[in-house]
Amino acid sequence: MSNIKRVYTFGAKNAEGKADMKNLLGGKGANLAEMCLLGLPVPAGFTITTEVCTEYYENHCQLPVELMPEVWSAMKKTEETMGMKYGDTENALLVSCRSGARSSMPGMMDTVLNIGLCSSTIPGVIKKTNNPRFVWDSYRRLIMMYADVVMEKSEGLEPADGKGIRKQLDDMLDAYKHKKGCKSDTDLSADDLKILADEFKNRVKESLGQPFPDDAKAQLEGGIKAVFKSWNGKKAVSYRRIERIPDEWGTAVNVQAMVFGNMGDTSATGVAFTRNPATGDNVFYGEWLINAQGEDVVAGIRTPNPLNDDTKNEQNKHLKSMQESIPSTYKELWDIRNILEKSFRDMLDIEFTIQEGKLYMLQCRAGKRTGTAALNMAMDMLKEGLIDEKKAVMRVDPAQLDELLHPICDPSAEKKATVVVKGLPAGPGAAVGRIVFTAEDAVAWHRKGEKVILLREETNPEDVEGMRAAEGILTARGGMTSHAALVARGWGKCCIVGAGQLHVEVATKKAKVAGTDIVLKEGDVVTLNGTKGNVYIGAITLMDASENPRFQDFMKMVDKFRKMGVRTNADTPADARIARDFGAEGIGLFRTEHMFYGEGSDQPLFQLRKMILSNGVEERKVALNELFAYVKKDIKATLEAMDRLPVTFRLLDPPLHEFVPQSAEKQAELAKALGISVEAIAKRGESLHESNPMMGHRGVRLGVTYPEVTEMQVRAIFESTVELKKEGKDPYPEIMVPVTCDVSELDFTKNITDKVYAEVCSKFGVKSIEYKYGTMIEIPRACLLADQMANSAEFFSFGTNDLTQMSFGFSRDDIGGFLHDYLDYKMLSADPFQTIDQVGVGQLIKMAVEKGRSTRSDLKVGICGEQGGDPASVEFCYKTGLNYVSCSPFRVPIARLAAAQAAIKASK
Ligand code: PEP
Ligand code: MG
Repeated sequence: MSNIKRVYTFGAKNAEGKADMKNLLGGKGANLAEMCLLGLPVPAGFTITTEVCTEYYENHCQLPVELMPEVWSAMKKTEETMGMKYGDTENALLVSCRSGARSSMPGMMDTVLNIGLCSSTIPGVIKKTNNPRFVWDSYRRLIMMYADVVMEKSEGLEPADGKGIRKQLDDMLDAYKHKKGCKSDTDLSADDLKILADEFKNRVKESLGQPFPDDAKAQLEGGIKAVFKSWNGKKAVSYRRIERIPDEWGTAVNVQAMVFGNMGDTSATGVAFTRNPATGDNVFYGEWLINAQGEDVVAGIRTPNPLNDDTKNEQNKHLKSMQESIPSTYKELWDIRNILEKSFRDMLDIEFTIQEGKLYMLQCRAGKRTGTAALNMAMDMLKEGLIDEKKAVMRVDPAQLDELLHPICDPSAEKKATVVVKGLPAGPGAAVGRIVFTAEDAVAWHRKGEKVILLREETNPEDVEGMRAAEGILTARGGMTSHAALVARGWGKCCIVGAGQLHVEVATKKAKVAGTDIVLKEGDVVTLNGTKGNVYIGAITLMDASENPRFQDFMKMVDKFRKMGVRTNADTPADARIARDFGAEGIGLFRTEHMFYGEGSDQPLFQLRKMILSNGVEERKVALNELFAYVKKDIKATLEAMDRLPVTFRLLDPPLHEFVPQSAEKQAELAKALGISVEAIAKRGESLHESNPMMGHRGVRLGVTYPEVTEMQVRAIFESTVELKKEGKDPYPEIMVPVTCDVSELDFTKNITDKVYAEVCSKFGVKSIEYKYGTMIEIPRACLLADQMANSAEFFSFGTNDLTQMSFGFSRDDIGGFLHDYLDYKMLSADPFQTIDQVGVGQLIKMAVEKGRSTRSDLKVGICGEQGGDPASVEFCYKTGLNYVSCSPFRVPIARLAAAQAAIKASK
């Protein structure tokens, strides 16, 4: 690999890379290059490619020998552009070393700033800047960051919570400030910072057993390695797993000349979005801090000032905006915002620094956004002519649509509630849950089925797993661009940050609300309104967000590109109507047994139990006759709700023991109602007992043993259809046989169906009834013999819940007990019950489709397992040639968008 180019330079309106080289240069590197090409003020530097990261790991964490010579020659170019020299005693160039993967992972990897400060360069920098305070401040920051990132984290040291070097040094800084009576870091003098830097170095040596390196070259090499190492740091790995970013991608490293926002009161640093990332409004949106370095803004250590009037809110309205303080620099930034949007045709997240009045751009990338913002921006940019319809459809992440359909606080209930504390509205929607104070507790409580609100002092990327597990996130510190805000927004999670009145004590798991007697404790229930930033004690009723007309327009556009059908899994006429409103084009799975569960099921369940407990066929037939009316009513109402659209009715599936009451009390009740003995019920229950219910007497097997049950269901379907036809409706029933593994089962059931068909035709005096006959494919054997199955079946519907269970041999009900281990050890990349395991189960599906269609070329194929609403699985289904996917009503819009995106991607 010696001939490959490992380092790409940028600077002085020139660059070796460009925006479309993200795979090689990472998002940050590619965009830094592009900004240079656009003529924007970017400090010079170079990007080490993502391929080097892969080499580094293949090489047992050694940099390839060719790398550092290439780095030093790129550094020469940077030095020439900046008119400074790295490691020079008089005119030292200082650099930053930052990560940058293909897709942005905000705050998940490491950064080191101010690299190159050491005893030989410091005097020269002091002389040149004539600002010793700034130099010592930068030096103490370097020691803190370097010790933390390079010497501790990247060495794999894992000190106990609160014992890490960063915390130790932070505590020393606080203690020093306290001793000196200083309120803020900016009150410390040059001498103070120099003393602190010395104390820091001693502590680093004591604590980590190594001295802080006093050599510029060694510092840079250490920084580069540490960034590569941070690709496999705990939080980065967790984030990748959640976002499904492949481990093989690796990160690039960006080495860039430092510019300083902490050089005094004419220096500043800031983060901005070219449009509002929470609402999508076309307003410039951001925060800035005078005399600070970038990390101060994103880490949420100080509450930042608003960029302009559009960014003012309750928390920051008393602070001066950049627009008010330095209008000409603001105007320059505003112009850059417009250039960037025109060029990238997207909303961007930018970082800038002002060094002694001069503006520099440090980063730009596609900004994380809420689902609402994504939708609004796509529609606005389409109207503005920045993007076309295809791009607009691709701009909204299907998973984010979910958020638009998400609950909000019921306004009338909210009016009556009192706000206990207010923060910044970082992630919209509402969430109710019990308070926990650590990310670990959030994960543990969530696993136990609790809904939790993660309450933290400040935003910390290490909390990523806990943030994911929580219903909502609440922090006492941090601004709208802090890590928690970015990450939560990206996930569409309800989030409130910077609730400054909260004084959080993690040790005692309490948070006091300043100025009141209120103390929030672990386990207390609170409600967050992330759209307003309000926190309430207790649970407020939540309701569905009202339909947004733009959402309707967007979905209409989506359907222009979609080629695969989207149906719903619905078990009641009410669900069917909801799904139809969401655009479902039929029901792909109606689980007939659901009429025996939940509200209004007492009577039909009683009749079913009577049937199960009957002695012999004749008694069973009598019971089935009584049950028939209920079944037919449900089926007819569903066909009516889905008029003109197909409805797939699945014949009875679960093992019968599920319907026999277990408790003595319930058995006695039933015995009395049926006029039989309790013993008889208990005995029947025992005889139906299954050792392995999922592989037991269920699905088609029930119909083989009790053909009269199939008869009754099929009759209900045919009679409903004929009656509706006579009433002028247009019903399209489909009869689906579950859990089949052999064509003989299908033939057996078809014989019953044919017999009933003839009877119903003659009863109603009709010649024919339009319907389809098909099967679920949920056993691997059915996939292997799909060509035979298609002799009998006119359609297949993949039941990927059972198919996954039977292929892996993992119980779909108990996988929670060990799934996290498989994910932690990377033995699985995702939960196969949520997203199709394409390499394994996917092969079975492909084979079944091919074999099935080899017998019956017009075989209709769909999927009705849970994965049918998962965007990656929808794309797989499209590529595999399925005619439709079927999913729960609320996932129908997600599946529609995912199907449209799959078709657009395939057409490229
Ligand atoms: C399936 O197995 O994927 C399926 C849809 O059926 P059920 O979940 O009812 O077993
Ligand atoms: Mg199944």
